[in-house]
Amino acid sequence: MPAQIIDGTKIAENIKKQILQEVEMLKQQFNLKPTVVTIAVGENPATKVYINNQCKICDELGIEVKLLQLDQNVTQKDVEQTIQQLNEDKNVHGIMLNLPLPQQLNSRKLQNLISPKKDVEGVTAENLGKLFYAEVTPVVAPCTALAVIYCLKDTGVELKGKETVIVGHSEIVGKPVLLMLLSSLFASVTPTVCHIATKNLSEHTKRAEILIVAVGKPNLVTADMVKEEVIVIDVGINRVKVLDENGKEVIDDKTGKPKTKIVGDVDFENVSKKASFITPVPGGVGSVTTCILAKNLVNLVKLQLGIEVDGYKIFS
Ligand code: NAD
Repeated sequence: MPAQIIDGTKIAENIKKQILQEVEMLKQQFNLKPTVVTIAVGENPATKVYINNQCKICDELGIEVKLLQLDQNVTQKDVEQTIQQLNEDKNVHGIMLNLPLPQQLNSRKLQNLISPKKDVEGVTAENLGKLFYAEVTPVVAPCTALAVIYCLKDTGVELKGKETVIVGHSEIVGKPVLLMLLSSLFASVTPTVCHIATKNLSEHTKRAEILIVAVGKPNLVTADMVKEEVIVIDVGINRVKVLDENGKEVIDDKTGKPKTKIVGDVDFENVSKKASFITPVPGGVGSVTTCILAKNLVNLVKLQLGIEVDGYKIFS
């Protein structure tokens, strides 16, 4: 039987409904519009796309996004001062620093200068550190990692004890997902983390009841690498050329250039014939990720106002 599709767009719609209610409450009770400042340094096409997405979704939700565009040659000291000023600005509730930064800047140091109370991406050492503890209900956490959890929970399958293989150990996906999936003393999964130095990837993936892939390589996971009924969460986003049935590039009539499309890291067509659940790309994890940024922001506003915040409950 083909896998059930985990519909990221539907999950995102539900999160958005909740955010809209909270934004309305903040407007009615506190006359406040959640505001995030997104810092971009220099020109980076990927950052531009990401910021446009942020603006679109925040606009839909009644959230203000202010773009702070800094020069490519800005100094470390200047960015530090900028972040400190934003930390002190009462009208700014969230700060995000778009990566990658030019070489002269120390990204980690700058990220850690953001006040944990305004850390909308959940990337400061203080907020990441909270994921270390058992039974956590974080108020903010890295958006993509949380999106993975939302997709897993959407299946309704009990996670407890499940043989779980995470492929990719980056600081924004693999590592925080691992910590989140270990956050209950009693109901955690049984994880294995694979990465570039893993010797025989398929030996691990074949054991997985839950397989989370976050690498950035199309077709890294093929049908012969997974077992029947696996739950697959594909985080990868890769742009590839569209090929015809003879394996030749398809040319776009309008542009004269090869047509491209977005795919994940998993061979969706064949793996979905064996899996019980699978996220599509696009329309899976990525759709949820941008909403989490808005949810993190609303949580931070509540924290700053000293009102009750529901943290993210992973095992309930
Ligand atoms: P990264 O480059 O920081 O990390 C890649 C990880 O893959 C590393 O841990 C590396 O060791 C591992 N890896 C590389 N080659 C491997 C191999 N052959 N076998 C096993 N492991 C291997 O990447 P990232 O920032 O974590 O992003 C991963 C993917 O997720 C990318 O495609 C990115 O575009 C995508 N992404 C998606 C979202 C989303 O919302 N869906 C958000 C962020 C990133």
